[in-house]
Amino acid sequence: MNCPGCATEMTHLAFEGRLGTTIEIDLCSVCRAIWFDHFEELRLTPGATLKVFGVISEPADRPTTLFPTALHCPRCNGRLLLTHDMQRSTPFQYWRCDSGHGRLITFVDFLREKDFVRPLTPQQLEELRQNIQTINCSNCGAAINLVKDSVCAHCGSAVSMLDLQQMARTVGQLRAAASGRQAADGPPPSAVPRGQSDPSEIEALVQAFKTAGRTDSPPGLIETGLGLLGRLLR
Ligand SMILES: [Zn+2]
Ligand SMILES: [Zn+2]
Ligand SMILES: [Zn+2]
Repeated sequence: MNCPGCATEMTHLAFEGRLGTTIEIDLCSVCRAIWFDHFEELRLTPGATLKVFGVISEPADRPTTLFPTALHCPRCNGRLLLTHDMQRSTPFQYWRCDSGHGRLITFVDFLREKDFVRPLTPQQLEELRQNIQTINCSNCGAAINLVKDSVCAHCGSAVSMLDLQQMARTVGQLRAAASGRQAADGPPPSAVPRGQSDPSEIEALVQAFKTAGRTDSPPGLIETGLGLLGRLLR
């Protein structure tokens, strides 16, 4: 199946679903987006959800391509409708086929929908500002000048990051569920590398920028957080 965004062949993944069914989804690593047929996402088992996390946390080898203004359903070629939704206080969006064939959602919006994305607290923003002056908006890709702005001047979305602790807890629960165990007591696995004193999530992100040599034009915070999540999953 070809990607509605960039027309290249999507990566087809098949997972074991609930009650012996098979769930198939398609991913585009150029647009960093997922196509779900119908309600397939709702039927993902814990093991399948972990696999999706694994795929979307793989580092991008090129900048993400932005979608064209008109997207068409890969099943019926009808125009996909941009749909806005909310997960608690986090807005997210996707494109759906009006005939119910499915929907296209970016990796970042998939994580927003799963409630893994949080705006930075004022303290976290201050901590980030002391290390980094400019960051790319995870929503639209525009540069955000952290010295004067805490929301993207282009699209208005707040500077946000992946909630790494929440993701680590979820990964622990999904792993336990996938192997049929109860979630173990004790501290969850950590996406943040442990040192002598535990670094804050912001410190871990800044460290990831430095390691990648990207402090001058860092990628989005969410994308960088995904790299840390990838470490946790491997
Ligand atoms: Zn694409
Ligand atoms: Zn359709
Ligand atoms: Zn923006």
